[in-house]
Amino acid sequence: MRKIAILGSTGSIGTQTLEVVEHNKDLQVSALAAGSNVRLMEQQIRRFRPALACMKEETKAKELRELTADIDVRIVSGMEGLVEVATEPQSEVLVTAIVGMIGIRPTIAAMEAGKDIALANKETLVTAGHIIMPLAKEKGVRILPVDSEHSAIFQCLNGEEPRTVHKILLTASGGPFRGRSLKELAAVQVEDALKHPNWSMGRKITIDSSTMVNKGLEVMEAKWLFGVQMDQIQVVIQPQSVIHSMVEFEDGAVIAQLGTPDMKLPIQYALYYPQRRYLPGERLDFTKLKSISFETPDTEVFRGLALAYEAGRQGGSLPTVYNAANEYAVALFLQRKIPYLTIQEMIASAMKHHQVIARPNVEEILAAEQETYEFLESRW
Ligand code: NAD
Ligand code: MG
Repeated sequence: MRKIAILGSTGSIGTQTLEVVEHNKDLQVSALAAGSNVRLMEQQIRRFRPALACMKEETKAKELRELTADIDVRIVSGMEGLVEVATEPQSEVLVTAIVGMIGIRPTIAAMEAGKDIALANKETLVTAGHIIMPLAKEKGVRILPVDSEHSAIFQCLNGEEPRTVHKILLTASGGPFRGRSLKELAAVQVEDALKHPNWSMGRKITIDSSTMVNKGLEVMEAKWLFGVQMDQIQVVIQPQSVIHSMVEFEDGAVIAQLGTPDMKLPIQYALYYPQRRYLPGERLDFTKLKSISFETPDTEVFRGLALAYEAGRQGGSLPTVYNAANEYAVALFLQRKIPYLTIQEMIASAMKHHQVIARPNVEEILAAEQETYEFLESRW
């Protein structure tokens, strides 16, 4: 029996992880954490019987305690609770399916407790990759990518010498606004940006996919996961989302991973690596697939991608500022308080204002996040 804990169990990745658990009788859930959806958490507790569950707010935790009074489960809350879930003694793997930089502390705590990390929460690696990767080595734990592109790259690298990697070709669907001009983007509304052509995901990452900030975060995530330079990573638009990413090796060979867009594949691969298991679902049908096409991203329109390269190249605390400014701006956009293009303007302006710290520790990362919020609040 392989025991897992999940941060963000009520979200898109969290619920799909639980679907994977349903299909595999040798996976067991030992702890769950979620934000505010008490009803869904109650159902998950009844179905999966974890020993521990955490809600973001204590008031929600109290509600959940009442709803589950007939079950043997301990219910906690807040950051302390997240860390308890992350370090639950029975579990071997922590699935980080929470959204945002709040994932940093519990992820580090889990690694210190010797857990492998099935990492979906890319914000953690983007902002604290220089802490996470050496810590994984020191503690002998594995960071198993759940993000579909990174899982694809991980699969392409299976059995290969890391030093023979010449280049990573990170694919992108281009999102709902591929091919649009800046002028057209100025009028984008929340509903338009929430319509992703191929993937069904949480709200924040769906907006990030439309701005290509998601791809920018993924380039930085890949840099840390695979130990390459920013300039060894090339973003390639592949609108059908059939190729999930590729690796070019020294000898010119390119290896790609293909499949239907289904996050359950990378989730299951991370949970069983290096084993492959049967996964029910649609398969690629090459008799029906007319074409796989490619484009170059337009970084003048999707400025968030160019800014990510700048942040990733400079490193230090700049990726934190990039990410924090984006988190702040996306939240305001979703509340209809700022226009769409202000998202990239806010990122650019926060990055310009920031004094980079070369190797920030966790406190300095969280302070840079806070400063970014304060700066943007004072400007907009
Ligand atoms: P989501 O918004 O659907 O789910 C987020 C989960 O985190 C929810 O369960 C929410 O309740 C929980 N949460 C948020 N704040 C919390 C807090 N303070 N305490 C406890 N729980 C909290 O998001 P998602 O789309 O599942 O994305 C999760 C992460 O995975 C993100 O980092 C995203 O970039 C990454 N990711 C997602 C996908 C995808 O297909 N959805 C693909 C690749 C990577
Ligand atoms: Mg992805």
